[in-house]
This record gives sequence, structure tokens and C-alpha cells, in this order.
Amino acid sequence: MSTKQSPIMVVACACGQLLRGPIEELVGIVQKHARESHNMQVTREDVLSRARPEA
Ligand SMILES: [Zn+2]
Repeated sequence: MSTKQSPIMVVACACGQLLRGPIEELVGIVQKHARESHNMQVTREDVLSRARPEA
């Protein structure tokens, strides 16, 4: 049995795009999207506060 389960989380960006992944990856995914698509900086706390479980 594995204890390294990472639930998939989803963040809905203000532009309507849904970004999803394990939380540790999702932080980077959202930061990259915000920087490249919106020229915005988001903090880890921003991502965590907006993330919701996928299921
Ligand atoms: Zn966006």
C-alpha cells in the first residue's frame, strides 16, 4: 500500500481555464499559467486557497 497518494486538485483561473493536478504540481502549474498568460505573480497561498478537490 502506498502512503503517497496525492489527490487531484482543480483551480479555476479568472480567465475560465481549469488547471488541475496533484497539489504540489498544481502550485507550479498555476504560477506558470498566471505568469505566461496574465503576466501575474501568484503565491503558493493563493493557489492553495483557490484549489478545490476534483471529485
Ligand atoms: Zn488564466
